[in-house]
This record gives sequence, C-alpha cells and structure tokens, in this order.
Amino acid sequence: MTRPLVVQKFGGTSVGTVERIQEVARRVAEGAQASRLIVVVSAMSGETDRLLKLARALSPDPLPRESDVVVASGEQVTSALLSIALDARGVPAQSFLGHQICIHTDDAHTKARIRSIDSARMFAALDAGKVVVVAGFQGVDGNGNITTLGRGGSDTTAVALAAATGADACEIYTDVDGVYTTDPRIVSHAHKLERISYDEMLELASLGAKVLQIRSVEFAKRYNVRVHVRSSFNDEPGTWVVPEESNMEEVTVAGVAFDRDQSKITLTDVPDRPGLAARIFSPIAAKGIVVDMIIQNTGAAGKTDMTFTVPRVELDAALRIVRDVAREIGAGDARSEGDITKVSVVGLGMRSHAGVAAQIFETLAREGINIQMISTSEIKVSVVIDAKYTELAVRVLHDAFLGAKETNG
Ligand code: ASP
Ligand code: MG
Repeated sequence: MTRPLVVQKFGGTSVGTVERIQEVARRVAEGAQASRLIVVVSAMSGETDRLLKLARALSPDPLPRESDVVVASGEQVTSALLSIALDARGVPAQSFLGHQICIHTDDAHTKARIRSIDSARMFAALDAGKVVVVAGFQGVDGNGNITTLGRGGSDTTAVALAAATGADACEIYTDVDGVYTTDPRIVSHAHKLERISYDEMLELASLGAKVLQIRSVEFAKRYNVRVHVRSSFNDEPGTWVVPEESNMEEVTVAGVAFDRDQSKITLTDVPDRPGLAARIFSPIAAKGIVVDMIIQNTGAAGKTDMTFTVPRVELDAALRIVRDVAREIGAGDARSEGDITKVSVVGLGMRSHAGVAAQIFETLAREGINIQMISTSEIKVSVVIDAKYTELAVRVLHDAFLGAKETNG
C-alpha cells in the first residue's frame, strides 16, 4: 500500500519568520508520517514587495525578465529554509526550484502560465523517502528564462503540482480559516463555508475575497483538483473548493463579496454608430486595463452615454485614453465621479431560485441605497453603489440571504 500523496502550500504569513518556519516544519513532519508530501512555499511575508521595491528603486520600469529573477529569489530562500528546518527535525527533505522540476511556462514574464510539469524528479525524491519542498510562484520558459506566475502565484503552483502528480489532496494553508460568507470584519456573524464550487469561488475571488489566486481556481476546475483552504494557525477544517455537487443549488446564495478597488467612468454624447464601442475599448484593452462592468444606454437623438468600471489604480490612464478617443470621435466629456464599491451576491442556487435580483434591489432600497450600475450572470448579481454605503449594503444583503445572527445557512 503506497501512502497517500498530498500537496500542502504555505503562504507568506505562514513562513513569515524563523519561528513560523519551525512551526510549519512541525506540521509537515507530522503530516509526513501518514502521507508522502509535496510542500509548496511562498516567500516570507512582505518579501516579494521588498524585492519589487528594490528593482523599482533602480528603474521605474524594471525589465520584466530581470524583475522575475529578483522576485523568484523570495521563494528560493523559503524552500531551502524549510528543508533545513525539516532536516533539523530528522525529516529528510529536499528543496526544488521551478526549473529543477521542469515547471515549464510561457514567456509572459511576471504573469506566466504553466504549460507542463515533469514529475519524475519529485517522484524520485518521494520514493527515496524525502519530503519534496518546492519554491512556489516560479517556472522556466522555453528558453530557460526564469518566469513568475503573478502575485499570489504559489497557489497555482500547488494546484498545478497536485494535478500533475495526481495527488490525493491539495491543502492551502493560509492566514484565514477558510472562505467566509462575507468579510467577518464587516459582518461579525459571517460564517465559514464548508465547501464551495469552483464557479462560486471564481466569482468570489474575482470580487475581492482574496483567499486564492483566481488562476489556481481555474486550474483546479480544469483538472478537478479538490482544494482544501485552511488555517496554518490551527487544526480546524477549512473550506473545500470542489466540483459542483448535485445538492449545491439548494443554497441560493453562497456569499456576498465586495470590491472597493474599482472606479467608474462615464462618457457622454457618444455618437450612436457601429464600431464606436470598439474604438473606445480597444485602446483600453491594448494597455492591459481590465474593464469590468459596461453599461450603454439606448441612443436618443443619435447619441448615447456609456458608463464602465476600471481598476482604481488605472483610472487616470483609462481617463486619458478615453478623452483622446472622445476627441477623435466627437463624443462629449469623459469623467469619473465619486468613490464606488461593487457589491456582489453569488450562489449556484440563483439558477433555480427566481427573484433573487429583485430581493437584492428591495433590500438596498429599504436602506435608501441608490444602485448606480447592475450586472448579472447565471450565478451572480453585482451592483455598483456609493462607497460610503459599502458596510451597510454588505450587512443587509448578508442578513437577507445568509441569516441575521443565526449561523449555518
Ligand atoms: N510571493 C508571491 C507574492 O507575494 C507569490 C505568493 O505569495 O503566492 O505574490
Ligand atoms: Mg496568497
């Protein structure tokens, strides 16, 4: 009987100090008694930011190839430190950098995608009775250049390794106990979800529940990897992110998420002609700015207004582009007004329960909260509201769908 194979990933806070690394080593040593382990580590907390700052101190626009070499060092250090800590406890371990286990990626530096992984060297080390410790977040492109997978990318390393090795489980140890129905700092009776489907998690992740890198969830979905997100500070079970199960639709709403990092741009008097949406959004996309919600009104007198949201950090850049286009196409003014928040209610059960959107609107109306924009998908309703009502909106929506004070919805 071979022992089960488990991938465990420890995030930055979990390995943030020498003491924390020792604590992780204790946990890994315990787990290694029952399972063969592949352990993925992030850089020590704050380290990636520190390294990026060093690069930016030398150039406002560091070469992406060199930037990747700089930041990949954070994970290199922790992988070796954890191996040393394990060895000191008498647990044989060996560290591996991305290229040493052939984590091949494309060449999109700073946001590379994994293409393939060769598990042979990991299995050889496992067969030799060692714990395999992998530096997360990094890979190597077709020309042998070091690449990184985007912020939070160690999650994706862990899920990809679980998929590549056919691991029995993938455990992501982090500084929260799991995925909550909403941010417990806003709603104290928010509760931990026992399990959530990939699709719900994707909606929640992209909406600001920053528990897992979005790409790791996409990966998990594609390869059917069941992911257990749990705390590295206690032994409580966390949240399982899993394929959709038949009874999941019984719960209408899984969670209420919010995103304070968006801004809204309105462009008035856009001539109502074919091709103009493309003229406006193509140059924005070309700059790599992700437009989220878009609303276009029905034209009147040959003109229409267009409102859309962009990440707040890219507001100025987006406004500059839109103003240039506006001049070229003879549109009116482009402006951004007020601080906004996008609040989203997410749940597989929306597919089979009618009237969720109406209930959301009524709930907000009762509090006098004005809705500025609305967008919906099969399992999500998002509204844009004035940022000053964020807490209130999240609280009343959570209470409406997930229970006031009562837990276990
Ligand atoms: N160290 C990288 C970051 O801070 C990757 C990770 O932690 O997952 O984004
Ligand atoms: Mg993370």
